[in-house]
Amino acid sequence: MGTLKSKINIMILTQKKGSLILGSSGFLLLLSSLFFSPQDELLLLVASMLMMVSGSLLYFKKVYGSSLAGIKNDGVWFNALTAEGIWGWALGIALTGFYVAIYWFPEVLGFNTNGTSTGLVQVFDPLSYALNGNAATQWFLYGTLYTTAILLFGVKFIWKYRHNRYQIIRTLSVMFFQLCFAFLIPEILGKLNPETPYFAKDLKNMWPLNYYFLDQWHLKNMLNGGNLGLFFLTFGLALMFIISPILTYLYGKRWYCSWVCGCGALAETAGDPFRQLSSKKISVWKFERWMIHVVLVFISVTTIAVLWSFLSSNSTMSWFSREQFIGGIVIFILVVMALLFFWKTGALSKDAKYSLLSLGIILIAVLSIQAFSGEKNILFINSYKLQKWYGFGVGAAFSGVLGVGFYPILGSRVWCRFGCPMAAILGLQQRLLSRFRITTNGGQCISCGNCSTYCEMGIDVRAYAQRGENIVRSSCVGCGICSAVCPRGVLKLENDRLENRINSENYPLGNTL
Ligand code: SF4
Ligand code: SF4
Repeated sequence: MGTLKSKINIMILTQKKGSLILGSSGFLLLLSSLFFSPQDELLLLVASMLMMVSGSLLYFKKVYGSSLAGIKNDGVWFNALTAEGIWGWALGIALTGFYVAIYWFPEVLGFNTNGTSTGLVQVFDPLSYALNGNAATQWFLYGTLYTTAILLFGVKFIWKYRHNRYQIIRTLSVMFFQLCFAFLIPEILGKLNPETPYFAKDLKNMWPLNYYFLDQWHLKNMLNGGNLGLFFLTFGLALMFIISPILTYLYGKRWYCSWVCGCGALAETAGDPFRQLSSKKISVWKFERWMIHVVLVFISVTTIAVLWSFLSSNSTMSWFSREQFIGGIVIFILVVMALLFFWKTGALSKDAKYSLLSLGIILIAVLSIQAFSGEKNILFINSYKLQKWYGFGVGAAFSGVLGVGFYPILGSRVWCRFGCPMAAILGLQQRLLSRFRITTNGGQCISCGNCSTYCEMGIDVRAYAQRGENIVRSSCVGCGICSAVCPRGVLKLENDRLENRINSENYPLGNTL
């Protein structure tokens, strides 16, 4: 019996090694195009992708699919990849290097602006021609690899959490939105409408995550983009002002951060082995609160400033003056401030104060824009430069380089936690006005700490569970992992009436801020 068991173990180990070798060989084959321009790019693309996909799927099947269902996080703190060890650092440096090349040195990957790329970018030419009718760019290469990673690691995630229906459906959802909405539909629409100027065609990527949605050039391109452009403009505005607030009220920010968003999709799937690395320190939580409000103020002021300057430079918008625009914004901010001031007291008073402070700063900035800005300058700064700084600082450096490159060092949701303006807005609404909460059955908690360990947003879930307190936090993305890893069924993600959802008491226990 013992011999049979050891034979089976050796066989499984051999199969794991074999599948790892197959997947790695495919990856190396693809990377070889960085050094040798391929003769037949289609053959190289198909062969390398097939090897990578089949090798990875076989490996995941052996590790997760062939064993009993249930959480398997064995040894995460003793592994050189998942515990900030040598392999973690190596992966972090490689990912960061890849992002630096994509954003600032695409020629290293073979990209050529005249459409005759070589190297790694050239390998993706056949797929790019088939989908959008043009030669591949570094962004097409990135989009394809990004989507492939979400799909592959999504399958792994489903195998790993297959005992949990919430995790299965949520993961299928992010895989679907990434593949169809973020990748295939925009590429195909680009091919079908070659005459229209460029504008983002990812229906789910709304402002402020898509930080250039309200930029002058983007608005102009949508206005000049025929019916398709007008549809994307109208849908984008409806998403911002109607659909998103309603869905966040009903379900919390999880509807977006854990079910739809592409950044969240990568964090949840490829970033899953690193979720325990998010810091749970109170000092980091304090920093997070400041950061998120600063991001909120910055994105609001820059967008208002850019729209303000757009209104004077575009003749089709002559029916709407700058004064009317600023007046409308001021009224809107004052109404929200009044509501916050009168309604949100008691358990929400501290959050309401932070929000009031942020809104007050935005209000002063808006009035200053009207009073002190010239035709090209906004508050004495060139508006074009303002947009470029934001695009560089937040759009590229933070979301890509830090946000993904540092997965193996800082955890999988660094960007979502500290830098994402979308998460900031949805988080404030979740805290102040949403039916979502995680309820805790404190009497059942054995203080094992699994929930806190695997919360990717750095929330000390155990501290709430020990007190039987509901978790109503701005940063919670509703991933449900805390609930999935709890051995006692203490935590439950729920939507219910607003009354009494915050039941905090002043216990001298755990992390309270
Ligand atoms: S508290 Fe739970 S549901 Fe919220 S982000 Fe953390 S692990 Fe996910
Ligand atoms: S995982 Fe469950 S039992 Fe363990 S500390 Fe968290 S709530 Fe308590």
